[in-house]
Amino acid sequence: MSNDKGKKKKSPIFIYYAILLVVILIVSYMLVPKLIEPKEKEISFSEFTEMIKTDKAEQVEINSNQFKLKPKDFKETNTYYVTGNISNYIDESTALLSLLDEKGLKYGSPIVSSNYVLEFIVYVVPTLVTVAFFILLYRSMNKKGGVMSFGKNTSKIYAETSTGKTFADVAGQEEAKQNLVEIIDFLNNPGKYTAIGAKLPKGALLVGPPGTGKTLMAKAVAGEAKVPFFSLSGSEFVEMFVGMGASRVRDLFKQATENAPCIVFIDEIDAIGKSRDNSFNSNDEREQTLNQLLAEMDGFDSSKGVVILAATNRPEILDKALLRPGRFDRRIIVDLPDQQGRIDILNVHSKNVLMEPDVNFEVIARATPGASGADLENIINEAALRAVRAGKARVSQKEMEDAIEVVIAGEEKKNRVMSDDEKRIVAYHETGHALVTSLLTHTEPVHKITIIPRTSGTLGYVMHVAKKEKVLMSKKELMEEIVILTGGRASEEIEFQSITTGASNDIERATEMARNIITIYGMSDTFGFVNWQKKNTLYLGDSKTMNCSEETQTKIDNEIQLITGECYKQALELLSSHKATLDAIASVLYEKETLTGDEFMKLFAELEPDIVLARTDDGV
Ligand code: ADP
Ligand code: MG
Ligand code: ZN
Repeated sequence: MSNDKGKKKKSPIFIYYAILLVVILIVSYMLVPKLIEPKEKEISFSEFTEMIKTDKAEQVEINSNQFKLKPKDFKETNTYYVTGNISNYIDESTALLSLLDEKGLKYGSPIVSSNYVLEFIVYVVPTLVTVAFFILLYRSMNKKGGVMSFGKNTSKIYAETSTGKTFADVAGQEEAKQNLVEIIDFLNNPGKYTAIGAKLPKGALLVGPPGTGKTLMAKAVAGEAKVPFFSLSGSEFVEMFVGMGASRVRDLFKQATENAPCIVFIDEIDAIGKSRDNSFNSNDEREQTLNQLLAEMDGFDSSKGVVILAATNRPEILDKALLRPGRFDRRIIVDLPDQQGRIDILNVHSKNVLMEPDVNFEVIARATPGASGADLENIINEAALRAVRAGKARVSQKEMEDAIEVVIAGEEKKNRVMSDDEKRIVAYHETGHALVTSLLTHTEPVHKITIIPRTSGTLGYVMHVAKKEKVLMSKKELMEEIVILTGGRASEEIEFQSITTGASNDIERATEMARNIITIYGMSDTFGFVNWQKKNTLYLGDSKTMNCSEETQTKIDNEIQLITGECYKQALELLSSHKATLDAIASVLYEKETLTGDEFMKLFAELEPDIVLARTDDGV
């Protein structure tokens, strides 16, 4: 439960205090003086002298236009008596003065009102009230959950003692779960790790497209470990006042440390963790918040059992400082579900929905490649709504299929969900890479081949089959690498006699590699032992500049074209001569969307019994 309610309760109280303050100030400055200000009563000159004669006067003030008399009973009546100045009449005024002298009354200086009550009310009370108000305000701002948590950061921190979610609520995502098991164990039993002196990662970054269950996964981790869950969403920082973001981060960590073991979850961390390099649109507030986050992550003691999880769908824009060891140095990929994953998710979300026996999740899953967990949940709900509208007691396959169109149709235009044709092309493309690898190098291509859209990569869905990088590479190996990169496009051409934009990243990498062969490694026959590229080492990142004449550059470009062209031809030949294997593996990949290394090896061994593959021992 979010604390929003608490915040709503607090602001009216603040307003009441402010109104009260204003009322007190108005009363004391304007009304009180009016009420108790001494009154002045006009009397005749004879009455005036009479009062002096009968000893009723205490003091007399003479100024240019009037005489003023303060009576002895002033405290009771609160009234002065005044009369016109008669100094033009010499006799009368002389008589008055001698009368005053005779009675021993002061008359030169003005009458000073010495109404202490009035002065106290008018000057001291408002000052005291104002000071008290600010003290109260200040104290409540510094105290957690004070009466007036006005602008208080705790109000938006989302704290749960128990999330109620477990891994059973997260369908599929086995890899991600496996990676998180250790963190759960650590939270359950920090002593086990600290006893040995092992340092556990302070933070892990959940990376994946929207709706794949990153938030859900973080909650499930807290649920599995049975620890409290503190969360904060990066997007909330954007709307905050200066300095608030940083203080909220400070607060979050303070609370978390008090409640350890627990999980701190920062959703949409890209909103604060954007790279600071981009000075075009620097944002002081965001930078302050980020700096505070970095400082807190460095400062807190993870042995107490606080683990920070963060989620993002744009890992590439994150500030490098966030990804350094001791911060979010672990990356957990939460990918879009494959065919089986989609069936599992449909099963999880249909538990409480009445379904006809004819509903076939396999068909639904097949029709929704590229759909996220959130999309699938949405499809089930949409189908249930349709069933209600149609007056049915249960959801049938028809509603499910209609729901796909409603939920996915809009998305399809955005190219997020693959059409069937696209899926077939991608299956051939990826199989092309994998098969060329195996045929050329006699090794297993990679531990996983997938045609599920990916978070990263230019087109979003191409998982490249690349070998582990070695320290030393021969020219032959480099050339093989280029052949493998061209294998995707070659496969498309062989099967469909047409080519797509899906290979653009391959082309970029192949070109780069061919350029390096010539200009850095000095491996080209034409140019030999020379270097034509200069490396500019920047802080956290490299760039390269060409270091040769324009004519040489042209020659190099031609040579690159020769190399990649030659490699492409080789890939075409390899794949054409093993077309049956290509077709078979591509159709399995199309069907299942993901193949593990083992599955690939098994298929390959059946189809090409003469070639024995070795394992590429990569832990990617
Ligand atoms: P993200 O944070 O990655 O954008 P969420 O965790 O908010 O995604 O997921 C949105 C909803 O989609 C979840 O509440 C859940 O119901 C559903 N969902 C997504 N992935 C899964 C999954 N693997 N298993 C079950 N439900 C899922
Ligand atoms: Mg989320
Ligand atoms: Zn490719």
